[in-house]
Amino acid sequence: MRHYILRFFVFIICFSCAKEVKKADENSETGFPEYTSDPRADFAIIIHGGAGTILKKNMTPEREAAYKAKLEEAIKVGYEILKNGGTSLDAVQKTINVMEDSPLFNAGKGSVFTNAETNELDASIMDGKTLNAGASAGTTTVRNPINLARVIMDKSPHVMMAGSGAETYAKEQGLVIVEPSYFHTERRLNSVKRAKEREQVELDHDDKTAFYDAEIQNYKFGTVGCAALDKNGNLAAGTSTGGMTNKRYGRVGDAPIIGAGTYANNNSCAVSSTGWGEYFIRAMVAHDISALMQYKGLSLKEAAQEVIQNKVPELGGDGGIVAVDKNGNMVAEFNTAGMYRATMNDKGELVIGIYKE
Ligand code: ASP
Repeated sequence: MRHYILRFFVFIICFSCAKEVKKADENSETGFPEYTSDPRADFAIIIHGGAGTILKKNMTPEREAAYKAKLEEAIKVGYEILKNGGTSLDAVQKTINVMEDSPLFNAGKGSVFTNAETNELDASIMDGKTLNAGASAGTTTVRNPINLARVIMDKSPHVMMAGSGAETYAKEQGLVIVEPSYFHTERRLNSVKRAKEREQVELDHDDKTAFYDAEIQNYKFGTVGCAALDKNGNLAAGTSTGGMTNKRYGRVGDAPIIGAGTYANNNSCAVSSTGWGEYFIRAMVAHDISALMQYKGLSLKEAAQEVIQNKVPELGGDGGIVAVDKNGNMVAEFNTAGMYRATMNDKGELVIGIYKE
């Protein structure tokens, strides 16, 4: 009899191990563990620092360490808020603030330059409980655009404000206002100068459309975003960016467009996007993922794969998303060489990734 009981326990142990292995296999595609939480996790948080041609061969160990350290610092701010019972909205906003204040990312300080060598910033935030949202576009003096998006959501009757009007509102609301030069960094200025020089040379010889396409592909990454689930089961997402290097004429990307760059709905998931904004707007990326879950019953992973690996590349665009669903499952899906990203679950386990690996 003892023999049978022993065999029974050995069987149970083997069975659970097999289940674990299966989870790891399912996630091997991006080399980045996606957490599957059953039952619902207490809380969860996932961030990105932009997607693009991020290759290990172009990275120094110091630079890689700097990115990882900042991603860790940022996500831990949100994690602490969630752990202490704070809201997902606060976690998203404060986490994004850390990345906006770092010159490493294309958001806040360190934003990319426009063709006119200015910095024009976009941001948005969304509350999955109420479907309320706030967004700002093309601001040049608001230090933390995600804070402006938040006050637009919380305190104004509007969802989106742009340009000088948005800046007036930011001042009225007592947000930190800075000189436009606050956002400047040598690195980003050199990027736009190089882009413009190349443009001049190429435009003399080449077909314009092909040139702009190549140019855009080389110069987009570094946007920041966050999606979180709090202990009350509320989801939130936010995104902040300087847009794309060498952008022109008041160009606005997907980051401040609710449904494209950011979306959150307690019935499905919270999503923040990064990538070639024009395509993300046309594909309505963030809302599409939520809708596939809500209306078609897809899992977060299936929905994200459908949009990021099929719909966006079929149109010709590239990029990625981070997302968390109502049960605390987290997904980082991208079709580029890399995406700066990190997750923390309710057990305090931290995972940071950069490349597809
Ligand atoms: N999506 C941003 C934009 O198009 C750029 C990025 O994510 O890197 O403005």
